[in-house]
Amino acid sequence: MTATRAFAAQNGQTPLAEMSIDRRAPGPKDVAIDILYCGVCHSDLHTARGEWNGVRFPCVPGHEIVGRVTAVGGDVTKVKVGDLAGVGCMVDSCRTCPSCQEGLEQYCEGPHSFQGTYNGWNDGSGENTYGGYSAAIVVDEHFVLTVGHDETDLAGVAPLLCAGITTWSPLRHWQVGPGKKVGVVGIGGLGHMGVKLAHALGAHVVAFTTSADKKQDALDLGADEAVLSRDRAEMKPHRGSFDFILNTVAAPHDLDAFTALLKRDGTMVLVGVPEHPHPSPSVGALIFGRKAIAGSLIGGIPETQEMLDFCAEHGITSDIEMIRMQEIDTAYDRMLKSDVKYRFVIDMASLK
Ligand code: NAP
Ligand code: ZN
Ligand code: ZN
Repeated sequence: MTATRAFAAQNGQTPLAEMSIDRRAPGPKDVAIDILYCGVCHSDLHTARGEWNGVRFPCVPGHEIVGRVTAVGGDVTKVKVGDLAGVGCMVDSCRTCPSCQEGLEQYCEGPHSFQGTYNGWNDGSGENTYGGYSAAIVVDEHFVLTVGHDETDLAGVAPLLCAGITTWSPLRHWQVGPGKKVGVVGIGGLGHMGVKLAHALGAHVVAFTTSADKKQDALDLGADEAVLSRDRAEMKPHRGSFDFILNTVAAPHDLDAFTALLKRDGTMVLVGVPEHPHPSPSVGALIFGRKAIAGSLIGGIPETQEMLDFCAEHGITSDIEMIRMQEIDTAYDRMLKSDVKYRFVIDMASLK
């Protein structure tokens, strides 16, 4: 065991504070990583502030982890000491169920589902897991990703480990590409990556935002059009025209405003997980047009590697604002006001 510095939420009410956690000695298949940067996901906020059920405190959030490999077990083949490496939202799963066998570990059907990088074993069956707001982590190589980007881009790579894969997976599953009109709703951490990735996949991309000052940004990120979603006159010309809409909004809102924009047989995928439910969508709006509302959870390990390799090849990273670990609560407060362009990333040197 190695005592490791970390930042933890103690109870959902008080600010996060420094805490020492134990990291296991690397086993034969384990990789030890010195964490250099960790992205700040809205899921960290939902968890740290106790908005979701089943949080085990103390909780060390953080699942957008990049760093340098410092030790590997004898059976590890994926990375070697000195390599850059990433860890996303999962650190284990059953490995044998149909979903795990298909490389969709996020949908593990085993008795304990997948193990989150933080707040894992939330059914109480095992020890809690502690995430990337820490100086180092030890992870089975199956859940370690290789990083092909230049080292100078590393901080902007961190958010790909959640925001990147959570938007990539549904874009790929619903076959977004040339000839498809795609909407991205909510231009935050996930949404800004959704715009970049859908654009890189060749789709016609329309960004929907509630923040007037983000319209020009969305065009700069790669959107072909940007719409103020609370302005009915701006929404109207898009009715019945979308093949696919990726909705990343972290708060309850009127889904009908967006299902109205889908074509016949179009799908809107929800990835945001608000603290309180959305108002129930209109069934009529779905029936007339055979439209679908679906959900999607992060992404499996093979598709996470595929996304990282695609981003390295196309020079894609996240637009970030670097913070010190000690500034995390202020960052959460700003995130709640949609005031982040477009992902906070913690410089872990501030903890060490
Ligand atoms: P974020 O950076 O806070 O972005 C959310 C965006 O939603 C905001 O920037 C804002 O964009 C928009 N928004 C916020 N409040 C709104 C409101 N009341 N009405 C309409 N739009 C609003 O959050 P994130 O990190 O991208 O995460 C988004 C959600 O996805 C969170 O609930 C998170 O827990 C969830 N998540 C899910 C998965 C998954 O696997 N499904 C993975 C990661 C995260 P505009 O300013 O452009 O309107
Ligand atoms: Zn996340
Ligand atoms: Zn499984």
